[in-house]
Amino acid sequence: MPEFQRPTGTQDILPPESSRWDAMVARFAVTVEAAGYGLVLGPLFEDVALFQRVGESTDVVRKQMYDFEDKGGRRIALRPEVTASIVRVYVDKRPTTPWKVWSVGPNFRYESPQAGRYRQFYQLDIEAIGSADPDLDVEIISLGWNFYAALGLRQVTLLLNSLGDGACRPAYRELLRSYLDEHRGELCDEHKVRLDENPLRILDCKDPACVAVTANAPRQLDHLCEPCQAHFDRVRRGLDSLGIPYQIDSRLVRGLDYYTRTTFEYVALALDAAQNAIGGGGRYDGLVEEMGGPPTPGIGFAVGIERILLACDAEGVLASADVAPVLDVFVVDFAGGESAVTLTAELRAAGLRADRAFDGRSPRAQLKAADRSGARLALIVGPDEAASDRVAIKDLRGGEAGEAGQETVTKADAVAEVRRRLGKRPASAPNVTK
Ligand code: AMP
Repeated sequence: MPEFQRPTGTQDILPPESSRWDAMVARFAVTVEAAGYGLVLGPLFEDVALFQRVGESTDVVRKQMYDFEDKGGRRIALRPEVTASIVRVYVDKRPTTPWKVWSVGPNFRYESPQAGRYRQFYQLDIEAIGSADPDLDVEIISLGWNFYAALGLRQVTLLLNSLGDGACRPAYRELLRSYLDEHRGELCDEHKVRLDENPLRILDCKDPACVAVTANAPRQLDHLCEPCQAHFDRVRRGLDSLGIPYQIDSRLVRGLDYYTRTTFEYVALALDAAQNAIGGGGRYDGLVEEMGGPPTPGIGFAVGIERILLACDAEGVLASADVAPVLDVFVVDFAGGESAVTLTAELRAAGLRADRAFDGRSPRAQLKAADRSGARLALIVGPDEAASDRVAIKDLRGGEAGEAGQETVTKADAVAEVRRRLGKRPASAPNVTK
């Protein structure tokens, strides 16, 4: 066994698997940038108090945070989620609203690792801050929906709920609390004790004891105030008008405390229940104010890359073979000159994917490397070609040309010939900005 192993709950993502990550991030970027969202990248660690402020009563903050004191004596946490950081940036910079941004990167939670549950996991995240318009909820939800569709996922269900707001939630919370209190003895051990802290959390508890009790619990949806009801109705109409199907799930609450009104989750039907949440989010109209900014509404969601990849595997889409970059050309030079250096550089400058062998290996070894590389073509320079300033082109996937499947062209024509064979148009002049 090697001396060093990766930490529990982390993954090494290598090629060609990593190209699926690349493809996923690229599709997310295309989907959300088409709707005017711009990329924000922030620190992976923050003042621990930032997360404590937003999620004091949650397991994510109470039990799962990687927090420590740095060398300067500051209490730091590796971020367990992104929304709090983005809202911190909003409060600090006060950009014009609606501020529409997206982000990508790792988050850290001290979880019990299992399939689809890691201690370092990657999220794609989108946030829109500064508008309470329900049409924005529809925009955000539909972007998630469109993203899954763009990946080729078909078995995704959208769950939808409303958590009410400061006007109607307190009364509902009390109603729920007293209902649960009547059933306290039937709840799971933890919630028997923690019932009064945040009864809404119990709706989210996966323990069968709590699930049985909450099945008949009062629903926030039956106790929305008029503005929350109007908001919810408008969101539903918007989703209907886009043809996006959803299921109402009155027990859908989110892991952090700051959510109001619209709450949603995307579930992959092809995965087991333990890991089938492939994304979720909602409105957090109280969060900016809680962080010291002016009252400002906001909404967003995060999707887990590892989970989505599990869903893609289960549905047989986004295979690495379909998205991994393929080499166009492999340069083989056994003449000993600089041809491999110059040809490879010219090919790459012309926008082609080119690689070569190193270490002055034998012609046989280099040709084997060319075959293994997956490239369509090989450019070969042996002593004869070097002497006549020519290059042999070989089709590595069979087909075209001569007995050995190769023909020669002048070195000057090599790149153009490669392009022709690959069916690519001549490269335009490079776009250099001064
Ligand atoms: P959350 O921030 O808890 O709402 O999670 C949003 C999404 O991130 C979930 O729907 C999952 O897809 C993903 N996710 C959350 N926690 C983990 C984890 N420990 N490992 C992998 N993915 C996760």
